[in-house]
Amino acid sequence: MAGPLPNEQLQTFKEVLQNQGPAAAAAMLNAYLEEQDNIPLHIAVTGETGSGKSTFVNAFRGIDNMDENAAPTGCVETTMKVESYPHPQYPNVTLWDLPGIGTPNFPADKYLQLVGFERFDFFIIISADRFRENDVKLALEIQKMGKKFYFVRSKIDNNMREATRSQRDFNAEDTLKKIRDDCIKGLENQGIQSPQVFPVSSFDLHLYDFRLLMETLERELPAHKRDVLLLAMPIVNLEIINKKKEALQSKIKYLAAASALVAAVPIPGLSLAVDLTMLVDNAIVYKNTFGLDPKSLQSLADSGGVPLHDLRAEMKSPLALKEISREVVLNMLKVSVFHVASLAAEEGSRFIPVFGFAAAAAISYACTYRALTTILDMLAEDAQRVFKKALRLDTSV
Ligand code: GDP
Repeated sequence: MAGPLPNEQLQTFKEVLQNQGPAAAAAMLNAYLEEQDNIPLHIAVTGETGSGKSTFVNAFRGIDNMDENAAPTGCVETTMKVESYPHPQYPNVTLWDLPGIGTPNFPADKYLQLVGFERFDFFIIISADRFRENDVKLALEIQKMGKKFYFVRSKIDNNMREATRSQRDFNAEDTLKKIRDDCIKGLENQGIQSPQVFPVSSFDLHLYDFRLLMETLERELPAHKRDVLLLAMPIVNLEIINKKKEALQSKIKYLAAASALVAAVPIPGLSLAVDLTMLVDNAIVYKNTFGLDPKSLQSLADSGGVPLHDLRAEMKSPLALKEISREVVLNMLKVSVFHVASLAAEEGSRFIPVFGFAAAAAISYACTYRALTTILDMLAEDAQRVFKKALRLDTSV
């Protein structure tokens, strides 16, 4: 999640290390990491009652409608007020289930003020059929406020099912294109220029245009919020696993530097000095981010219609298979210790001039860096295999 520590900050870091010592330098890095982890992302989801807002909010957060933390769905008037739903793994990311525009408590002309539009990074306007006058009014108001909006045409699975029944020469791509184009034309006729419309099924995020919606959001968000979105976004293809991995990888140098300066402890029997607690904490974050925790895995099995045990069979790393503990991480390090330690000794000396480390801290930095990278690689590879299986992609590659 951390972008590169800007050059002037690297200079400040070296000065702090020299003048105030390792504890102060580590505190500086930790503060930087914490700041990055707490960058907020507020996603507003709005549309008429019954259009599928709550189901979309739940699907985005990777939880199904039956989950105890789910936004309530399917009632006659489920969304009467502004409700916030934090992402389960990344609470800095919040989805907001907003009441439909034009409901008695939320008249169109006061809507944006009433829902507190300033806090939102962008708006998703959902409709289960064509977009209406109120949706258009809202989009134009959002635009006036200098914010972005995206149209989601929900429940596409229903349309696809109907089309397969009613069209002899059914073609999924053509049907999708027709629905998309009809929505775009309808919106253009009502005065929206080049509207972005994404046909989606919240029950099958890996199908249809949800992926395109994610790519568009990622492209159009300000740079410092991109990784925030990436880490929280649901995994709907293998590319997203790679992008999440990159976002997590970019943080490792800071984590390793901070811990090498103050918290690294030599591990008996291993030529390694690392902060085991930090490794465990981050391994858990990686596992959850890749959806390999038991709850996410179960939900993937259910939605993909693949037995849980077939998904677990794809996981090779004990970090994925077992509950992550100090013991599990330590054993993992022992197995790959030759790899980790020999490379670490070689690499350690490279960081003495970069960060201004003492030699011992440089070696510890390299050990920690290697250990975290190894953990990340293992879990990312398992995630790739699991998702290939769940999405029924060719597993032989
Ligand atoms: P809200 O009132 O806008 O929050 O709508 P809900 O999320 O409560 O959804 C209304 C109904 O539509 C519920 O019965 C959902 O199960 C159903 N629904 C929502 N999204 C989808 C979807 O993508 N596909 C299908 N087939 N049904 C959906």
